[in-house]
Amino acid sequence: MSHPVYRFAPSPNGRLHLGHALSALINFDAAGASGGRFLLRIEDIDTTRCTPALEAAMLDDLAWLGIAWETPVRRQSAHFKDYRNALETLEDQGLVYRGYLTRREIRDAVASAEARDGEHWPRDPDGAPLYPGDAALLSADEIAAREAGDAPHVLRLDMKTAVARVGEPLTWQEMPAPKADTEKQAATIAADPARWGDVVLARKDTPTSYHLSVVVDDALQGVTHVVRGRDLYEATAVHRLLQVLLGLPQPAYHHHRLILDETGRKLSKSQGDTALSALREAGETPADIRCRIGFGARDPGS
Ligand code: GLU
Repeated sequence: MSHPVYRFAPSPNGRLHLGHALSALINFDAAGASGGRFLLRIEDIDTTRCTPALEAAMLDDLAWLGIAWETPVRRQSAHFKDYRNALETLEDQGLVYRGYLTRREIRDAVASAEARDGEHWPRDPDGAPLYPGDAALLSADEIAAREAGDAPHVLRLDMKTAVARVGEPLTWQEMPAPKADTEKQAATIAADPARWGDVVLARKDTPTSYHLSVVVDDALQGVTHVVRGRDLYEATAVHRLLQVLLGLPQPAYHHHRLILDETGRKLSKSQGDTALSALREAGETPADIRCRIGFGARDPGS
């Protein structure tokens, strides 16, 4: 078998925290233990929130942790054309449409429907309201007028048609934690991308989306093992759908535990006190960080 390829794919829109350290170290150690490759990918499609200064700080934090990566590093903002090509492949299959409803129109429609009917509007696995479809809120004339005027819009995947096009149940392989001594087998997980509704594939200011660029890059970079936080578990259903539609290979997945704060919430980049830089300035060592995340030198623990 060819060598496994692992990757850590952070977004430089804030400082790295302990959760990132866990993800980066699991991937780095797993690559090392299996004689595989470790890639770092900069997911900076949001060119307003991701800055060169934050990217430099991120690389500095990772190097300090003892992580080494192959160069050149793939920076997504330099590859919008690759994502455009993938989008065109989906467009050619008739699976992409322009959504003209603005965020505000969606929010207002959801709020008034919930107030009126006392019903809970269906949500995606992240808790965001499912896209109602332009025709649900706009008249045919209004849609035609927005089309004619090239009004602001996003490009969305026609989820129902896409799922029907695949025509067979989607699954992915969820691996056990990449520990050398594990006896566990991979589990086959049923993927249900329809729970996400008509996901956004591209916006005016960001000509791609997280879902699209991540599957394109994992394939282009030959990633065989996608190891990332449990918060992205449900997103894997969308990734599998896009991989099948785009004819891309299927990596194996492992979604590791998350590091929670004292109140049981997931760490976020805005919580400064768990930033690696803050811990480092307070005198902690890379070994202390491994210890904090329950990750001894001999235990990739996830
Ligand atoms: N860029 C994503 C993040 O920072 C991770 C993407 C992935 O691992 O698939 O949360």
